[in-house]
Amino acid sequence: MNNKSYRVLITGAGASGLICACRLILGGISDIIILEKNKKPASKLIMTGNGRCNLSNTSVTSDDYNTDSPDILKQLFDLYPGEKIMSFINNDLGVMTASNGDLIYPSTYQSSTVARALLRIIEDAGVEILYETPAVSILRDEDSYIINDTFRADNVVVCTGGCSYPVTGSDGNGFRLLLPFFDKTDFVPVRPSLVPLKTKEDDIRILSGQRVKCQASLAGDDHVETGEMLFTDYGVSGIMIMQLSGRIRGLYEGTGKAPVINVDILPAYSEDEICGMIEDRYSRFPFRKRYECLEGIFSPAMSMVLISRYTDDPVKLAGGIKNFSLTVTGDQGFEHAQITSGGIKLGSAYKAWDKGLFAIGEAVNVDGPCGGYNLHWAWLSGIAAADRIRES
Ligand SMILES: Cc1cc2nc3c(=O)[nH]c(=O)nc-3n(C[C@H](O)[C@H](O)[C@H](O)COP(=O)(O)OP(=O)(O)OC[C@H]3O[C@@H](n4cnc5c(N)ncnc54)[C@H](O)[C@@H]3O)c2cc1C
Repeated sequence: MNNKSYRVLITGAGASGLICACRLILGGISDIIILEKNKKPASKLIMTGNGRCNLSNTSVTSDDYNTDSPDILKQLFDLYPGEKIMSFINNDLGVMTASNGDLIYPSTYQSSTVARALLRIIEDAGVEILYETPAVSILRDEDSYIINDTFRADNVVVCTGGCSYPVTGSDGNGFRLLLPFFDKTDFVPVRPSLVPLKTKEDDIRILSGQRVKCQASLAGDDHVETGEMLFTDYGVSGIMIMQLSGRIRGLYEGTGKAPVINVDILPAYSEDEICGMIEDRYSRFPFRKRYECLEGIFSPAMSMVLISRYTDDPVKLAGGIKNFSLTVTGDQGFEHAQITSGGIKLGSAYKAWDKGLFAIGEAVNVDGPCGGYNLHWAWLSGIAAADRIRES
């Protein structure tokens, strides 16, 4: 057993763990040690937003997230509104931010700016990060927590991430650390989310590599996404599809129904207008094949897919173009998922904060859409945990 006892031990040098450490340090607590499984810190943070780090969203609210405990999440958002989080990032961490529509980035548009700002505060305070040192066990005696049979700490922050992009170090192993303190029912089974989707229909395979600007929604859902959809050899991808993937669990889990995506391939035109356009083209180009009449609006491959699905009848074709359906058969797994849905329930994790055990970040059953929401939760939960420790 290492003789040294710490006020706080943090497991994981990712977004939530690093900001938690910074908040503690800037609040006067540097009796901290950080254990990191990887050789280096912030591997996932560096990848975010294609290296640009979409670190928050100007319109973020607790309603944007899936969670088991919306009331607790709202309470946390009321305590830490978006401006408070952004003020800490701008003024305390010294990261100047810039907005691109709703999306907030560091003004350098480089994720390394954010990682460096966090790490500098930790280094300046002389707080040690032990690399290639995974936390493998947390136990409790009457005085404190004992980690890896080696370290003692009054407070432990479990911020080992979820299971997505396991190459970054977040591979779900961290949930094991929480098992001695919780019941099985305190965990929501993990699933990949914000992930490309596999689809059943074989006719779209010839479209692999093509993109369409469209609108899409899941059957049974009022929410409509607008954007670009990429056809792939397994199904569909692109931000719009990732956003829809984040809604599938809430809508379909336990129903036994396969999710269906309804795509409007020409959102700028009504069904009647499209029908009129097709009839007009048929009459203007009577010697062309029917699918050739659609060229100029769609790629040749898409024109063929549409006619083989819906026939060349203008009414049926227009209906199909406004409601091109794809049946979801699965997803591309944690290797390709931006986030994890599920984890330790927020309600259960939050109760344990009273005992000095802080599960935060993606390890907790709180997940949001693409657009800065997931990093925002990492920041918010890290800051809130640090403040609770400072008050204790
Ligand atoms: C490709 C990609 C792009 C993304 N882009 C965005 C974006 O632009 N905006 C946005 O809001 N969100 C984005 N996200 C999601 C966001 O990155 C995560 O939600 C966020 O990083 C989660 O922070 P975290 O601290 O909970 O976990 P992580 O950042 O995953 O950090 C967990 C850390 O714990 C370490 N660890 C794991 N197990 C142990 C252990 N037993 N002991 C010690 N250390 C351990 C890991 O090595 C890792 O360093 C993106 C995700 C991906 C994969």
